Amino acid sequence: MKNSNNVVWHHATVTRSRREQLNRHKGAILWFTGLSGAGKSTIAHAVEEQLHRLGCHTFVLDGDNVRHGLCGDLGFSPKDRTENIRRIGEMVKLFVETGIIVLTAFISPVRIDRERVRSLVGVDDFIEIYCRCPLGVCEDRDVKGLYQQAKSGKIKEFTGISSPYEAPEKPELVLDTNVCSLDECAGKVMVLLSQRGIIGK
Ligand code: ADP
Repeated sequence: MKNSNNVVWHHATVTRSRREQLNRHKGAILWFTGLSGAGKSTIAHAVEEQLHRLGCHTFVLDGDNVRHGLCGDLGFSPKDRTENIRRIGEMVKLFVETGIIVLTAFISPVRIDRERVRSLVGVDDFIEIYCRCPLGVCEDRDVKGLYQQAKSGKIKEFTGISSPYEAPEKPELVLDTNVCSLDECAGKVMVLLSQRGIIGK
């Protein structure tokens, strides 16, 4: 995996904690996980909107802005899914060093892949948020018409239909998106961020 030798890390004088002081909030990674259509993107953007209004520095990463570019060479086989999450993990590790709150909205179906990111970035920075929603509800929502295509066999290896989803065992937060409204779900995330001292109370 490692082909780059003679690479020396340059230590910045502008450190993460200085950036955080300037930002007036801490950096963190809000890692949303769940089935397609469970509400990851919707909630991530709603939370980002609230944080932005409070003057926080944020960025949402999701499948669309990553799979077209950085991970455009990857498909949906187990190996490619793992590599996709590994690259995203390395990216969010850099993002959090900038002192921003990064929100990710990837299905990220494999538990060990998510746990690898948690270990890579550090447990304090990694906030796993499980958007829990029954498969049937996601299928009914079928936001992008993907379930229909997966069920007819047009899309292979689709999570929940022809590829497994491994629910988190100990996520920092569970959002039941078929029970709670979007506002309630976003509100729960904001409360957690306050409780953890990432944003002011
Ligand atoms: P994902 O990013 O997990 O694939 P999306 O956010 O794209 O899911 O889609 C979720 C869909 O479910 C949206 O159409 C959204 O309006 C709807 N929805 C209904 N209730 C909720 C809720 N409580 N939280 C988030 N989305 C919800």
